[in-house]
Amino acid sequence: MSNPSLLILAGDGIGPEVMDQVKRVVAWFGARRGLGFDVSEALVGGASYDVHGVPLTDAVLESAQQADAVLLGAVGGPAYDDLDFSVKPERGLLRLRKEMDLFSNLRPAVCFDALADYSSLKREVVAGLDILIVRELTSGVYFGEPRGIIDDNAGGRIGVNTQRYTSGEIRRVARSAFELARRRNNRVCSMDKANVMESGVLWREEVDAVHADEFPDVELSHMYADNGAMQLVRDPKQFDVIVTDNLFGDILSDCAAMLTGSLGMLPSASLGAPADNGRPKALYEPVHGSAPDIAGEGKANPSACLLSFAMALRYSFDRRGEADRLEQAIESVLAKGIRTPDLLQAEGETPVSTEGMGDAVLEALEASL
Ligand code: NAD
Repeated sequence: MSNPSLLILAGDGIGPEVMDQVKRVVAWFGARRGLGFDVSEALVGGASYDVHGVPLTDAVLESAQQADAVLLGAVGGPAYDDLDFSVKPERGLLRLRKEMDLFSNLRPAVCFDALADYSSLKREVVAGLDILIVRELTSGVYFGEPRGIIDDNAGGRIGVNTQRYTSGEIRRVARSAFELARRRNNRVCSMDKANVMESGVLWREEVDAVHADEFPDVELSHMYADNGAMQLVRDPKQFDVIVTDNLFGDILSDCAAMLTGSLGMLPSASLGAPADNGRPKALYEPVHGSAPDIAGEGKANPSACLLSFAMALRYSFDRRGEADRLEQAIESVLAKGIRTPDLLQAEGETPVSTEGMGDAVLEALEASL
């Protein structure tokens, strides 16, 4: 059998710097764990615009469609701020997400013990936290028609957006959440506003139907999204997988992510429909951007990008043990006090560089054997 394919799109700013460390770790898994990948690389964002005049070429899009998983660094930067909207670096990323039909956005909120004091919440509330928010990404109020700002013919204006979900759209993201829960702690909490929105009533009915028909072994609960927001900051460890719509997911996933501290630690994934081989189309990327303020200085924390690769191991390649190994390696490095500048707290602490962090993670991986 041939190796699974991995398309690397490093992008702009700190993207290539953090991705260099991921490439070392990918090579380590090939050499030391017999987990080989056919790795290819291509341009996206400003890097692609500089060469091709567009932030994503059709050829790269086609490679992404064919790849078993795509790993992306970051796009954007001040050099591209004045470009026409149609060729801005971010358009490359949006086109990838749209054309690959990545409807299920995964945002984990994991709190490493060593970083529990970075949270604005009490250590005991967040230490050991490991939850996953699944946000519907391609429909709902951000896309629904009619939309716009219209005159009310009485001297005022009306802003309109439409929350609209089909049963098929709800079912496919629910299915994604149930499947993910089976690879974790087997619990899903669905969040909606069924008390005041018809689209929420439909959401709840369709999630229930998918559960009864296909996933009766997974524990399902429902919660109103406003209560969900309160519960996330009161007792986030009560959750395993949360599934919710595009708008609530946008807000709840940012809220949950910040329970855990630094932007340099946050991975994400966006999944589409399963291909013939059972693997979903998949794009893994850190939550952070291209950080032009520190690009080229060796200061970027590669952890978010490394943790994105760990998500790929878990969710695209079903190698949970290896994903745990990588996450634990990063945790053990942090526990030793080895940190990039974004994670320094006390005066007098000496930071490591991006590459130094990569060295330490590779050392911890070796020590895990
Ligand atoms: P940003 O995430 O790039 O940076 C915000 C702050 O966090 C900066 O101070 C930065 O130095 C710091 N930071 C981010 N990642 C870090 C890391 N790994 N290690 C250490 N520090 C880190 O957001 P921004 O400054 O608002 O945007 C910069 C550019 O990135 C813009 O062009 C924006 O459009 C783009 N952007 C891209 C993505 C993406 O590619 N998915 C996401 C957000 C922003």
